[in-house]
Amino acid sequence: MIDLRSDTVTRPTDKMRDAMASAEVGDDVYGEDPTINDLEATAARVVGTEAALFVPSGTMGNQIAIRVHTDRGDEALVETDAHVVKYEVGGLAQHAQVQVRTYDGGENGCPTPDQVAAGLVDEDLHRPGTGVLCLENTHNVKGGTAVSVEDVSAAAEVAQDNDVPVHVDGARLFNAAAALDVEAAELVEPVDSVMFCLSKGLGAPVGSMLAGSAPFIEQARRVRKLFGGGMRQAGVLAAAGLLALESRDRLPKDHANADLLADGLRDVDGLDVQAPDTNIVLVDVNDAGMDAATFVEAAEEEGVLVSEFGETVVRLTTHRDVTESDCRTAVDQLSSLV
Ligand SMILES: *Cc1c(COP(=O)(O)O)cnc(C)c1O
Repeated sequence: MIDLRSDTVTRPTDKMRDAMASAEVGDDVYGEDPTINDLEATAARVVGTEAALFVPSGTMGNQIAIRVHTDRGDEALVETDAHVVKYEVGGLAQHAQVQVRTYDGGENGCPTPDQVAAGLVDEDLHRPGTGVLCLENTHNVKGGTAVSVEDVSAAAEVAQDNDVPVHVDGARLFNAAAALDVEAAELVEPVDSVMFCLSKGLGAPVGSMLAGSAPFIEQARRVRKLFGGGMRQAGVLAAAGLLALESRDRLPKDHANADLLADGLRDVDGLDVQAPDTNIVLVDVNDAGMDAATFVEAAEEEGVLVSEFGETVVRLTTHRDVTESDCRTAVDQLSSLV
């Protein structure tokens, strides 16, 4: 099977498993796990923040960030199709108890400064006040779109000028950095906090990082405990995370493979292929006379796993465990369906 459902399906490398087996560990709730401490320091350095926190999942990282940035009853200004609102089980309502106001981020998923200004709410007798602006980079539902430093800065500036902090869901932050040919720290510099996943294109089995100022991370550590995410000898996971973080220069390979898929499928009658920025390829199969569910099922019979991503849209995601030759095979198999 060629598994293009998600970049989360990667399995830890032998090197990761060796590092996990021999990791130096301690009780991380006491702050005594040297491998966790190393990972948190390394992650903070890589994204240019004062501090960072290891969390079990990207979802928990986002939920902690929004909880720390807001007060109960605030508004969170988020993109209509953002992961934090669409795929986190309504966590903003449950964990931060905030109300969501959405903006339409257009092609790349990032709001214009005017959209941010229009979405901010000033607290008064009747209105709740905005507690946080959330951005997503890359934006998953828009097709793994990489949002430029300029667009991030322009949106963040409007929020921050109004004393509203900015959180970036950067599950695939390093994919964005690679596509834009900038350092990840440049994408993080304009904002107040960022979450990125170790467990997607970077290939770790478990874990994400939340990064920001030292006082922010201090509060985040306490909320992580509240959410049940305080871990003990978590250095076994951090050991893989450190190798994952070091491997970020391999992401352009995934982007080249996504281009290969897109170029191959674009020539097929009935498939409408969105040109990928990064490792995600969206394909509308409507003109092939199929809905997404039918296409997904037929693809599986040809040995290719893809994700249903809308009524007629499927998502193909490249990652470390699919090769260039797998992608060529996938193009042949998927073309034969239509
Ligand atoms: C995967 C993902 C997350 C959450 O990560 P999990 O580790 O699966 O909880 C958050 N945001 C985006 C954009 C993602 O793609």
